[in-house]
Amino acid sequence: MSESRTSLFVSGICCTSEETIVRKRLDAVVGHGRYSFNAATAELFIDKNVDAAIVAKELRAAGFGVRRRQEAHVHEPFIRRHQEGIVTLAAGLLAAAGIFLEFDAGSNAISRALLLSAILLGGWKPAIKAVAAARTLTPDMNLLMSIAVVGALLIDKWSEGAAVIVLYSFSLALESYSTYRTRKAIRSLMALSPEQATVRDTAGERIVNARSVRIGERIFIRPGDRVPLDGIVFDGASSVNQAPITGESNPSFKKRGDTVYAGSINGRGALSVEVTKVYEETVLSQIVHLVENAQQQKAPVAHLVDRFARIYTPVVLGIALVVAVFPPLVLGASFYDWFYRALVLLVIACPCALVISTPVTIVSALTNAARHGILVKGGKHLETLGTTRAVAFDKTGTLTSGALQITDIVTLNSLTENRVLEIAASLEQQSEHHIARAVVTAARRRFVDFESLEVGDFEAIPGRGVRGTISGTTYYLGSHEFCHGQNACSADVETLMETFSRRGMSCVILGKSTGPLAVLVVSDTARDVSRSVVTDLRAAGVEHVVMTTGDHDRTAEGVAALVGIEHVHAGMLPGEKVRVVEDLRERYGSVVMVGDGVNDAPALAAATTGIAMGVSGSDAAMETADVILMGDDLSRLPFLIRLSRASMSIIKQNIALALVLKLVFLVLSIAGVATLWMAVLADDGATLLVILNGLRVLYFSGKT
Ligand code: ADP
Ligand code: MG
Repeated sequence: MSESRTSLFVSGICCTSEETIVRKRLDAVVGHGRYSFNAATAELFIDKNVDAAIVAKELRAAGFGVRRRQEAHVHEPFIRRHQEGIVTLAAGLLAAAGIFLEFDAGSNAISRALLLSAILLGGWKPAIKAVAAARTLTPDMNLLMSIAVVGALLIDKWSEGAAVIVLYSFSLALESYSTYRTRKAIRSLMALSPEQATVRDTAGERIVNARSVRIGERIFIRPGDRVPLDGIVFDGASSVNQAPITGESNPSFKKRGDTVYAGSINGRGALSVEVTKVYEETVLSQIVHLVENAQQQKAPVAHLVDRFARIYTPVVLGIALVVAVFPPLVLGASFYDWFYRALVLLVIACPCALVISTPVTIVSALTNAARHGILVKGGKHLETLGTTRAVAFDKTGTLTSGALQITDIVTLNSLTENRVLEIAASLEQQSEHHIARAVVTAARRRFVDFESLEVGDFEAIPGRGVRGTISGTTYYLGSHEFCHGQNACSADVETLMETFSRRGMSCVILGKSTGPLAVLVVSDTARDVSRSVVTDLRAAGVEHVVMTTGDHDRTAEGVAALVGIEHVHAGMLPGEKVRVVEDLRERYGSVVMVGDGVNDAPALAAATTGIAMGVSGSDAAMETADVILMGDDLSRLPFLIRLSRASMSIIKQNIALALVLKLVFLVLSIAGVATLWMAVLADDGATLLVILNGLRVLYFSGKT
């Protein structure tokens, strides 16, 4: 993710269909791919080496307003913030006065002056954009509205012309409200991260801007303070509430060596922290950026709507032209009458309500998810998640906690337990696997000095185990399959493993090519929530739940029985996990894979939606996954599926609402029943409904 970028707000986007115009302009001056634009929040991010001033100038020339992000959310003057609203109100008052006068005394110079000033006030900005749109041959809302108003004036319908402008201006204000609202919701994710940090070094203590703190600097966090930057505790201990990151409101205890995240709230202790991420790269910033940029990965429905809107507008325009020309010329009907009908069609040709329906909903959903500690990397995943029919779980670290413990060491040789641990830990030092961590911890606890052993030819075989050479002897440590293949197994070992596995324990074998040396027994306990998550997923409509694990089949079956999963694939290598997922895809269409390990990464990629654990997860898994459960909280999974479903159904409602209204008015206006008034009101009404309906997703709680 590129953090070196400037962000700008583009204001006065009447409708997300104008996105095309913004993008065209930007492609020309900035170059494709060097900016990202989020239509739902009206935010534009450009690479740092692009001159923001040139971009601003170009966009202003096209009739848009441009502001720097800082100006925009810190000290935004009232007039600026409510610009659209004020213009609408003023134009509305003028128009109302004119219409009232006209109604009372008939059309006269004063009423016309009032109506004209309303039109000019509300219409000059759209007019500038209309000219730009006409020149680039991208008919947009502004062009349609401008033609409709000029047309209305031509046939002497002053009050209707003014009404069109006022109501159009109102829909601009609406749109601006909705982008403001979604922006605010995303920003609220960031709100917990303070702008200032207390740096402590040899020069003493000082308060600085959090953006200026560099990696390696030491900051001090007082009780009750918010953590400004990600870092590692090197002194002090405290319980910290990291809800903004993990969605988990129970505090987690932090001591020396633990990681704290920007945005968390410190409890009663004081912490000294060594900074590991600069401001723009903290986990929290990354979450916010991902949500902001989620528009880059549009949901397929959004694409569909965009494409539809692109043909819809020209088609209705064409119909309007035919309506204006054909009946009067060929059928000898009244020109005045049919011209008016064509103007109504112009208003209906505006795809606003349709186009905005999707992005508002999706951004609201992503923001809601982020608040619950679920990071969804793009809008499109919401759509696929909503259709999930099968879920595959990894075992170790996913269904089980990953905080493994070595409970027994059975030596089969004359070796002592400490010698076994010494060899095992020296090998495992280099692995990131949960078992590796358990082995190293066990060795440390017994003060076994494994660090002085020199390990050569180290290799980690994902899903199998590790191998390395110590003083000329090659040792193997890993699963039964792995060691069996290396001749480091025996009948005794197999009996031992059977016994332990039956008790739900996991076993790994330490051996060399002449035979086994020891069996290490690992306890791998299921997370408390796993069982209820599986039940809940079924309740949420998931038909098939499976477990895929690299572990021994008995152990796997033990855990599966405990959490209520019937289908188990044990002894799986990473590639075999992929095959399980692919097979599920074939049978069920949309498949979720949940995992944490390096060995899960290929399967995460193969799944329709890959979901990684954020705390116990490996970097590889988190990179590959489409969704990250920041707090490792599996119980968010059913919620996420429900949220996705709810969002998709709201999007569908929105699209249906917008389309039906358009269709009804299309017919009514050709039939000559609809007036300009009605058309614009219906259009605004639809836009308002669609926005409010979409924003509802922000507050979706999973209870249906
Ligand atoms: P899961 O799929 O349940 O997360 P893995 O596929 O990561 O488990 O591992 C499968 C099996 O391979 C483990 O149960 C263990 O026996 C063995 N294994 C993998 N990596 C290691 C390692 N670093 N040290 C010891 N054993 C390992
Ligand atoms: Mg795992």
